[in-house]
Amino acid sequence: MSSVRDRNASAWLLPVDGTRDNHALRRDMRRFDDETEVDIVVVGCGAGGGVLTQRLAHAGWRVVAMDAGPFWDPDRDWVSDEAGSHGLYWTEPRVIGGADPVPLGANNSGRGVGGSMIHFAGYAPRLHPSDLRMRSDDGVGADWPLTYADLRAYYRQMESELPVAGQSWPWGEPHRYPHSPHPVGGDGELFLRGCQRLGIPARVGPVAITNGRFGNRPHCIYRGFCLQGCKVNAKGSTLITHIPDALARGAEIRADSMVSRVTLDEDGQASGVVYHKDGVERRQRARMVALAGYSIETPRLLLNSACARFPDGLCNNHNQVGRYVMVQGAAQTAGRFRDEVRMYKAPPPGVSSEAFYETDPTKDYQRGFSIQTVSPLPVTWAEHVAAEGHWGESLREHMRDYIHWMCLGVLCDFLPLPGNRVTLADETDRHGLPVAHFSYSQCDNDRRLMAAGQRVMEEILRAAGAAHTVTIKRYAHLVGGCRMATDERDGVVDRDLRTFAVPNLLITDGSVLPTQGSANPALTIMALAARAADRLGAKARR
Ligand SMILES: Cc1cc2nc3c(=O)[nH]c(=O)nc-3n(C[C@H](O)[C@H](O)[C@H](O)COP(=O)(O)OP(=O)(O)OC[C@H]3O[C@@H](n4cnc5c(N)ncnc54)[C@H](O)[C@@H]3O)c2cc1C
Ligand code: SF4
Repeated sequence: MSSVRDRNASAWLLPVDGTRDNHALRRDMRRFDDETEVDIVVVGCGAGGGVLTQRLAHAGWRVVAMDAGPFWDPDRDWVSDEAGSHGLYWTEPRVIGGADPVPLGANNSGRGVGGSMIHFAGYAPRLHPSDLRMRSDDGVGADWPLTYADLRAYYRQMESELPVAGQSWPWGEPHRYPHSPHPVGGDGELFLRGCQRLGIPARVGPVAITNGRFGNRPHCIYRGFCLQGCKVNAKGSTLITHIPDALARGAEIRADSMVSRVTLDEDGQASGVVYHKDGVERRQRARMVALAGYSIETPRLLLNSACARFPDGLCNNHNQVGRYVMVQGAAQTAGRFRDEVRMYKAPPPGVSSEAFYETDPTKDYQRGFSIQTVSPLPVTWAEHVAAEGHWGESLREHMRDYIHWMCLGVLCDFLPLPGNRVTLADETDRHGLPVAHFSYSQCDNDRRLMAAGQRVMEEILRAAGAAHTVTIKRYAHLVGGCRMATDERDGVVDRDLRTFAVPNLLITDGSVLPTQGSANPALTIMALAARAADRLGAKARR
C-alpha cells in the first residue's frame, strides 16, 4: 500500500501559522468555466463526494465539486458554542410522514464543504462482514453485490487518512487502528465500569480524531465540541482530510452552488448539471457526473431530473429511486450519578461495545445493536430532558444537575423496507424546486431491537452506579434510497456505484448502502467512494 502522504497529502497542506485553513490553496484554486467540458462534476462535497473528488483529482482528472453550502473556514465560521453552530445543518424545508416519521434537520444532514462530517461525532467503525450478506445469513434485508473483502483495503486507507484512534477491535473482522486510543472522560470510565461489572466487552474508540500530531494537524484538546465543527482540526472531516489535497491537485470546489438537475445528451448519457449560484441558473458541462448529496437529497435530485426518457425520475425506470431509506434506532439513556461526571469534558465519541451486534438466535429479533457514549452538551441535554416531559422547574433542576449525568446511545440495525421512501412533495424550496417527502415506518423487528437496546443501556448505567435513568427514543444516520444491487430491478447502482440506467452517472454517498448494520456509516461511505474512484480506472485526463 502507498504511504498516506503519497496517497493524500491533505494533513501536510494545512497551515502551521496558527490559522486552520490554507487560504493560498483556496485563492489559487484552478477554476473552470461552465462551457468547458470537465471530466467529472461531483454534486455534494461531504463524506462520499469529498473522497471521490480527492481521488480523481489526484489521478489527474479535471474535477468540479459543487456544494449547496459554503466553503467553511474553521477560524471564521465556527464557534465552540452549541446554539451558534446551527448554520452547519441542512435546514431547508423537507416534508415527513409515515407511521413513525423521522424528524429532519439538525440531527440529519449537513451543508457545505465537508458535508455532515463537519458536525458528525467522529465515530468511525467498520461494518461487520455479516452486514453485507444479511439476506443469506438471516433471511432479512438484502445481500450486497460486494463482499467485505472488496472493502477491506479501502477501510484501511480511510482509517489511515482520517486517521482513526482506538483499541484493537475484536468484533466483525478483528483489526487494529493506526492511532492508539484516547484517554477517556468520566462518562467513558463509567461505561467501562458498568460493562466490566456485567461481563460485557467494551473498547475505547474507534474515533476519527488525531491522537498526537498528524501532518500539520494538532492533537485533540478534549474540549468536547466535536459536533460543532472542531475548530482545532483534530477531528476528521473531508474539509480537512481530503479537500486540501484535491485543491493542490487541481480540483475546483464550487461552493454555494445548488444543483437542480442532471442533464442528458441525446444518447441518454449524462452531459452535466444545472445549478443555482448567486441567484442565477447556470449549467456545467461534464463527461461524467457523480451524485453525493446524502440519502434525502440524492433521490430528490434524481426525481427532479425527470425527462422524456425517464418521466418518473432519472434512473427510476424500475421504481427503485428513493426506496429502502434506513435510519438506525438511536435511543439515548442517561443515568444520574452521585459524584460529578462532567460528560462534556471529553470528545462525545469515546467508548463503544459491539457485543450485541450480531443476530442472536435466542432473541425474538433479527440483527442487533451497538452501544456508545454520546455525552450531549447542555442545549442537547435540555432537549433530552424536555423530551422526557420535564418542563419549568423540573427542567431547570435537571439543567442545574447536568454535571452529575452521563448518557449512552444505542444504534439499532433497523431493517431496509421498500415503503420507507423519498418522493417529491408539493411544496417547493426557495429555488422553486420540489422538496423531498420522506415517509418512514418501523417494523416489529425494529421495535423489539429498540426495546432490547434500551434495556441493556439501563442495565449498564445501573451497574456503573446510576441512581436512576431516563430514556428518549430517537433516530440517527440516514442511509439508503439509491441502493447498490446485482440486478437493476432491485436497486439503482451496481457494485462500482454506476447507475444501471445511465452508465456515466455515479452515486457515491450513503444512499447506496443496501443495509446499515449497527455501525456509524461515514467510514463505509468514504471507503465505497475510494473504491469507486479506483474502479473508474483513475486514468489521467490532462
Ligand atoms: C449529529 C450527527 C452525528 C453523526 N455522527 C456520526 C459519527 O459519529 N460517525 C459516523 O460515521 N457518522 C455520523 N453521522 C452521519 C455521517 O456524518 C453521515 O452519514 C455522512 O456524512 C453522510 O455522507 P454523505 O456523503 O452521504 O453526505 P454528506 O456528508 O451529508 O454530504 C452531502 C453534501 O451534499 C451537499 N448537497 C446536497 N444536495 C445538494 C445539491 N442538490 N447540490 C449541491 N450540493 C448538495 C450538502 O450540502 C452536503 O454538503 C452523524 C450525523 C449527525 C447528524
Ligand atoms: S474534543 Fe478534540 S476532536 Fe472534539 S472538538 Fe475538541 S479538539 Fe476537536
